[in-house]
Amino acid sequence: MKRFFQFFLNKRARAAIFALVIALAQALVFSLVLTTAATATQAAETGEGVQETALAALQKQYESALNIIEHNVQNASSIPILTYHSFAKQTDANKKWSDDAAENSWILPEKQFEAQMDYLAENKFHTATLEELEQYLRGKLKLPDRTVVLTFDDGYRSNIEIAYPILKKHKFHAAVFLITGAIGNERYSTAASRTPLDFMNWTDLNRRGDAFSYYSHTHEMHTEYDNGTTKFAAEPLKTVTRDLITSKSLTGAVYFAYPHGRADARGKALLKEQGFRMAFIIERGYASRSTDRFAIPRFSVTPSMDDDEFRQICNREAS
Ligand SMILES: [Zn+2]
Repeated sequence: MKRFFQFFLNKRARAAIFALVIALAQALVFSLVLTTAATATQAAETGEGVQETALAALQKQYESALNIIEHNVQNASSIPILTYHSFAKQTDANKKWSDDAAENSWILPEKQFEAQMDYLAENKFHTATLEELEQYLRGKLKLPDRTVVLTFDDGYRSNIEIAYPILKKHKFHAAVFLITGAIGNERYSTAASRTPLDFMNWTDLNRRGDAFSYYSHTHEMHTEYDNGTTKFAAEPLKTVTRDLITSKSLTGAVYFAYPHGRADARGKALLKEQGFRMAFIIERGYASRSTDRFAIPRFSVTPSMDDDEFRQICNREAS
């Protein structure tokens, strides 16, 4: 009887201990949930503060890089931004891809791209993200002296098949401005008179997020007419506004590249109104703190660009 009582006691004691442990675990989980929620709310309320902390961490990272890399002793006074379009596996750089001269100029042979990226890697260039560029232009972040920004326009499949493995090899980063209406379309023509090319699909692009970030190049306002205007500049305001909203909701982007690299006053105003924070054109020039953030210049890299010119651009020696 005594033994049974002892056993019962033990059993009760065990049950009590079990219940206590469960209660403690529940309390712990509950307090963790509360703490997480509180932190999230605090972070949301003080978004600026969180961003400042992240910036300070980034700055530290660059400063340690500056100390290590002898030639990077200065902070960049301006930044070269490079624009690429499509790529092709081709050994002969002089081969014409098509009879359309304009089309030939925006398809770069793989070997040429690889040599350019090798040069950047050998010379310890930093490939900045657009978020970094924005903070730099706002005067909130210093970037290493040897910094470039790589951008790819339109969203061609060749970006994934040819450029991606090369970027990945060097742990480089590139911003892709997507014509969101072309994504998932097997073949799409970016201009009224050009041959349709293969585009990325949403699965491709989700899988390449380690090297690429995606931004807006309109949803379907990219088409260039033979008279040189684009849908973005020529279509009614209502249509263009709706298009921007669609593209923004698909990419979540606050950065934009004008179709065919040309800014127009109406487009600029509209982008600001729709909450975009930077917009890029194609025009030779470097980005600095005095640059209009809605007409940021980019150098177009074409097959006719030789190694010397590429190096001059990257080292801010080009005009
Ligand atoms: Zn384009």
